[in-house]
Amino acid sequence: MTTFSELGLADEIVRAVSEHGYTTPTPIQLQAIPAVLTGQDLLGGAQTGTGKTAGFTLPLLHRLMADTRQTGAASGRRPIRALILTPTRELAAQVEASVQTYGKYLPLTSGVIFGGVGINPQIKLLKTGVDILVATPGRLLDHIGQKTIDLTQIKILVLDEADRMLDMGFIKDIKKILALLPPKRQNLLFSATFSNEIKELTDRLLNSPAMIEVARRNSTVDVITQKIHPVDRDRKHVLLSHLVKTLKWTQVLVFTRTKHGANKLVEQLGKAEITSMAIHGNKSQSARTKALAEFKDGQLQVLVATDIAARGIDIDQLPHVVNYDLPNVPEDYVHRIGRTGRAGAGGEAVSLVCVDELKLLADIEKFIKRKIVSEVVPGFEPDPYAKPQPIQLRSHPAQRNQRPGPASPRKTAPSGAVKSTASRSATPARPASGPRPAAGGLPSLTARRGSSGNRGRG
Ligand code: AMP
Repeated sequence: MTTFSELGLADEIVRAVSEHGYTTPTPIQLQAIPAVLTGQDLLGGAQTGTGKTAGFTLPLLHRLMADTRQTGAASGRRPIRALILTPTRELAAQVEASVQTYGKYLPLTSGVIFGGVGINPQIKLLKTGVDILVATPGRLLDHIGQKTIDLTQIKILVLDEADRMLDMGFIKDIKKILALLPPKRQNLLFSATFSNEIKELTDRLLNSPAMIEVARRNSTVDVITQKIHPVDRDRKHVLLSHLVKTLKWTQVLVFTRTKHGANKLVEQLGKAEITSMAIHGNKSQSARTKALAEFKDGQLQVLVATDIAARGIDIDQLPHVVNYDLPNVPEDYVHRIGRTGRAGAGGEAVSLVCVDELKLLADIEKFIKRKIVSEVVPGFEPDPYAKPQPIQLRSHPAQRNQRPGPASPRKTAPSGAVKSTASRSATPARPASGPRPAAGGLPSLTARRGSSGNRGRG
């Protein structure tokens, strides 16, 4: 079995990785690490859960160290040499935490910048200088506009979850950023799906890239028990409370289609004396961080999330995922249920399906190429005469008027406090987790169905 050191990584990196509990590289790492080490561009078909972050971070650290040795150790202000763009704040924070964890024995510095929090600490961070910067596109452009960032020394660019970035409407921002980067650089792009828009982006961005992909997630979700509970639309919350209580669920991630739906459900669960919080784009960064922290350490029974807000959340061995509403894009179903059953540990994904969602269910079953077991919960038999109603795909405009979320950072005035970490100790490292084979790979280079236009922005 190939080890991390056999892949050609520096000893300092291998040490950090093994201390973090990784014994063997995941399939995406086995492919990505040697490719990135050669300096060539890379197109990776991979999504969260495959180990892709280490797949690009480890060789990136190695290459920057080699560059540092070649050009002499940096003294004084450090130019940013690697830029990692991610769609959401949560993912940005997690990627930077990984950079710190894996780079802890290297004399490299990193920082993270994203919207929804104060810009001044970020300006200070950028003035001090970091070798590796993780950023969301909107806030990065704010810094560009304010001339508080210098991107002229970038040697490596990573676009992580590029499909999500496009879904969230970041394409113009990305193009503006690309135009400011030096032409000679290494580009790495990761995406779980490959729409025409992504293909256009990869064509313009990547130069003879190495192409890698790991197994389709929808062929490897076998470790996850999937179930449908048919139920009437207005009894879903009662059924959810019933399941949480009778089955004594303690850590449940629940997906709703809209931000408004998430808030409403939290209220309803509260009335049933179930502790829960919502994370979505209308929540402040501090509220999102708090919710996630409380959920992770077991204080919250239920975390209610919209699809986009849930991206990048890394919680080890989540036992239960509930689709309170079915997603309107079948791929999102796979993304959602992939939050459980990680590390081949098994897990349960339950979908509460009302008569309005039968078409969505049929699309999902077609996509995953299997029928999902349907089980009526006694006492929650759906009305056989109920007529389907059109599905509300987004929150009502009145509920969408404030958007400090990642989907609209351009509209948000810089304010509040930020987590910016030039100092390595400032960000807690992710807890070590046991070996995690890339079970649950991902949809491979397939075209994405549906478009951003009809999707609620988390
Ligand atoms: P990612 O796809 O980068 O979000 O990683 C998913 C999870 O896999 C994270 O919790 C990582 O800490 C974990 N992980 C990444 N690489 C390995 C590895 N080689 N062995 C065990 N776990 C890993």
